[in-house]
Amino acid sequence: MSPVVIVGAGPTGLTLSLLLAKRGMASVLVERDSDPKRHPAAHVLNTRTMEVFREIGVAQELEAACQPQERAAYISWVVSVTGRLLGREPIAPPDLDSILALSPTRAIQFPQNRLEQRLQSRVRESPLIDFRTACTCEAVEPRADQVAVTVRRRGASDTERITGEWLVACDGASSPVRRMLGIRAEGPVLQYMLGIYFTADLSRHVDGRESTLYWLMNPQAPGVLVSYWLPDEWVLNVPYFPPQQQPADFPEPLCRELIYAALGTRDVPDLNVVDVSPWVMSARMAETFQRGRCLLAGDAAHTMPPTGGLGLNTGVQDAHNLAWKLAAVCRGTADASFLRTYELERRTIARRNIDISLQNLARNQAVHALAGASVQRLKLLVAIQNSWPFRQLPASWQAGLVRTAVQFGTRQFLMLDDNGPLGERLRARLTGRLPTGAEHYRIGGDLGGVYRRGAIIAEVASRPDADDPVLTYRPTTSPGARLPHVWLVDREGQRRSLFDLLEADGYLLLVHAEGQPVWDAAIAQARSQTGWPVRCLAIGEGAEHQDPSGTWRPLSEVEPTGAILVRPDGHVAWRTARVESPQHAATALTEALQRLHDSGAASADEAHGTVTGR
Ligand SMILES: Cc1cc2nc3c(=O)[nH]c(=O)nc-3n(C[C@H](O)[C@H](O)[C@H](O)COP(=O)(O)OP(=O)(O)OC[C@H]3O[C@@H](n4cnc5c(N)ncnc54)[C@H](O)[C@@H]3O)c2cc1C
Repeated sequence: MSPVVIVGAGPTGLTLSLLLAKRGMASVLVERDSDPKRHPAAHVLNTRTMEVFREIGVAQELEAACQPQERAAYISWVVSVTGRLLGREPIAPPDLDSILALSPTRAIQFPQNRLEQRLQSRVRESPLIDFRTACTCEAVEPRADQVAVTVRRRGASDTERITGEWLVACDGASSPVRRMLGIRAEGPVLQYMLGIYFTADLSRHVDGRESTLYWLMNPQAPGVLVSYWLPDEWVLNVPYFPPQQQPADFPEPLCRELIYAALGTRDVPDLNVVDVSPWVMSARMAETFQRGRCLLAGDAAHTMPPTGGLGLNTGVQDAHNLAWKLAAVCRGTADASFLRTYELERRTIARRNIDISLQNLARNQAVHALAGASVQRLKLLVAIQNSWPFRQLPASWQAGLVRTAVQFGTRQFLMLDDNGPLGERLRARLTGRLPTGAEHYRIGGDLGGVYRRGAIIAEVASRPDADDPVLTYRPTTSPGARLPHVWLVDREGQRRSLFDLLEADGYLLLVHAEGQPVWDAAIAQARSQTGWPVRCLAIGEGAEHQDPSGTWRPLSEVEPTGAILVRPDGHVAWRTARVESPQHAATALTEALQRLHDSGAASADEAHGTVTGR
């Protein structure tokens, strides 16, 4: 029996298997597809995700391989790529340098298909990961002490049973495992989209207006063109309206016409349509992230519109939250109930990220409405096309009417290109209304995720949040927050990020140099009373690690005798501003570890209340 069975080798499942392997935990990773995804999908890897990738040793490789950021660090609003430019805003916030100083790594643009190839290579190198591709999970049988998973290899007539102590469903937005477990996903479907992935060297067409995204205010191709890899990898995303329209209604010749309309030119001799994939824009959340020995992570647990680039990032960070807890439970360091803290912590973050993505979507819709294409009209169209009388019409009429209605709904975009006063007035409406760089990249949304409940000991009187905890970020050691990053220098003169010194399987107790003797003694006493490993790391004059820039002391927010207990995932579990005596330190630490150990049982009660209260 494997400790953990993971279904789905998207970014969430791949990352989880690698984080478990880093802790010496074996897993079976089951994936339906035989090859990595062709379609690029996500492209924004935020700073926090890159910190997770740094932990599994892939961040530097990704940083080296990504394309130069400045070339396309813009978002444009256009009638077409070569046509009228309505606005072009930088993605990077004006205070980029101060943001870069907050982490040992940085946010990058890296297409999901290329990312998955690299993660898969790492997975294949690991002797601890049994990676089974072309293998579909067909049934799940949860039991009291294990989970049995039935899988079928592609083309095989027989199935195979794999058993694990725990099952993690990382099988994406439509999550077959979630359905098998009878867990509902709640929330709206916002739009059906078609992603037309094509290659074409567009260098001369985009020269001077390179952008990551081109919002197309174009009646023939209303949607968004995404630049994945310059000069020639692109995806045109356009809406479609089922049931009258289906992906099959978009054969390659029609896709080429849509691309020509989006580009505003047919002069694309090397155009190659690689893949056309439908996807659903939704904002949904599973009613629970755990049922018995089965857990949900990534899109299986929550989906959000891509406006914000947070879906993949949220999934990778779910895996980061879950891996050390699963390892602790499988090893017997923590009780099974400790895993309850996973949902308690991650549900709040998923909710916040859904809200950020919805706000971004609303902001974009407002821009489109100013240009004459309102979301109300779209809602009306959907209501009409699903109404009983409409559905009585012959199918070809229905399809034709839906097509006409979409063109009618976006026809005012035509006026954006008008050289007369009407066009000028319409364009003037957009001036100053396009989202700015700070709104595109939200540093608080990236680094400011704080767990308020779960495997932490919250403080009654923490310092208040920054003005807007999504737009701004204030480094803090407040329990639940991500530990602030600083560069330290060890005795050999090596520069190390504080994040590189975290414990994989236990807590790190950060203290100032002068407090070390007291806390070393406290750890020795606490360790004998709780099973959790704790290591002391002292920073400052005469200690193992120096802080040459002097930034750590004010950042630590604790006095010379204080201490900060950090979890393996880099979130602060507990801190004390000061202690009065060695005995005080030992008692405080023992009590904190005990409460953290018991936090699962407390969370189980809360989580139960949440689910049944719905
Ligand atoms: C156009 C677009 C742009 C996006 N841009 C961004 C972005 O910039 N940043 C961002 O963070 N997110 C973005 N996203 C969202 C991101 O793509 C998803 O959130 C991400 O793929 C979720 O990862 P996952 O591993 O949870 O699920 P998935 O990537 O969906 O992986 C699930 C895996 O499970 C497998 N599977 C399914 N069923 C079974 C089964 N029964 N047995 C075995 N295997 C199974 C599937 O084959 C698949 O490989 C974007 C999405 C879209 C559509």
